[in-house]
Amino acid sequence: MCARNTRILFGKPVADAILTSVRKKVATLKGRPPSVVFLRVGDDGASVSYVKQKAKCASEVGIQGETRVFDETTTEERLLAEIIRLNEDPNVDGILVQLPFPKHVNTLNILRAVDSKKDVDGFTDVNGGRLWQGDGSLIPCTPAGIVELLKYYRIATEGKQVVIVNRSSIVGKPLAALLLRHSEFGNATVTVCHSYTQNLSDITKQADILVLACGKPHAFGRDYVKESAVVIDVGINRVPADNERGYMIRGDADMEALTGYVDALTPVPGGIGPLTVAMLMKNTLQAYYLCQQP
Ligand code: NDP
Repeated sequence: MCARNTRILFGKPVADAILTSVRKKVATLKGRPPSVVFLRVGDDGASVSYVKQKAKCASEVGIQGETRVFDETTTEERLLAEIIRLNEDPNVDGILVQLPFPKHVNTLNILRAVDSKKDVDGFTDVNGGRLWQGDGSLIPCTPAGIVELLKYYRIATEGKQVVIVNRSSIVGKPLAALLLRHSEFGNATVTVCHSYTQNLSDITKQADILVLACGKPHAFGRDYVKESAVVIDVGINRVPADNERGYMIRGDADMEALTGYVDALTPVPGGIGPLTVAMLMKNTLQAYYLCQQP
């Protein structure tokens, strides 16, 4: 068997194209720039780092980003009051609730309280419902970024078997809704797998496009993947390492085993991660337009 020339689908050029477009549009706006508030509770290391990246990216494209940090013990009532205040603030276009929240806070209650026009993560009931109806405008950033990556690299989805190993509201479910749309980068036959799925490898091996987001470092090698598949690796796993940080970031795919075997593969880091942040900026601009409407 001769080794395949596996294409590595880097996220950066796709993210750069999105960010350049956002930056240009923001530069033409009259009055104040679009603004987004990042709400973070506690000091979870990954959350601190994600919010920093998002705030940095916002300032690079001319969006005003403000981070509000709440103590780990903050009550749900206090957070709800803050969301209501931000909903009513005409100078705030986007509200991003950085997850996870501490256990005593009901995350769904908080997400549902966000005004759907300011819901830059696309997690409210209204935006989730619209997405399933095929007309969403604020779509969860990671799945939206995956579709942008497929478009950029001209990877057709029509009629393809797509298997998603994840059923969360952040990744798997909204991605399934997007790929089922009656549109050029939809029209796929979608299977959603999760921890109760039996004979997982039999299913994942059917995939023309396999999306991995189950948070298991290097778990998916050749036994799970069809030769010639396109593998989209969403997983971000901290694996202990002998370096300054004490860890390395790894995906769910066994990249070493799959390189030379599959058609195309997104790297981790450097694949879907940058796209999630870029789509957040696109959504913030969209939220600005929505908030300007009477
Ligand atoms: P969740 O924990 O909510 O979802 C994990 C999913 O994987 C669940 O649906 C779970 O099933 C499924 N799963 C777990 N173990 C197995 C198994 N053995 N076999 C089959 N399915 C399994 O996490 P998220 O959706 O929030 O994130 C998933 C991954 O994606 C994480 O690594 C996260 O860091 C990463 N991520 C990356 C982003 C990016 O920008 N690149 C953005 C968001 C997330 P069940 O529902 O039954 O528990």
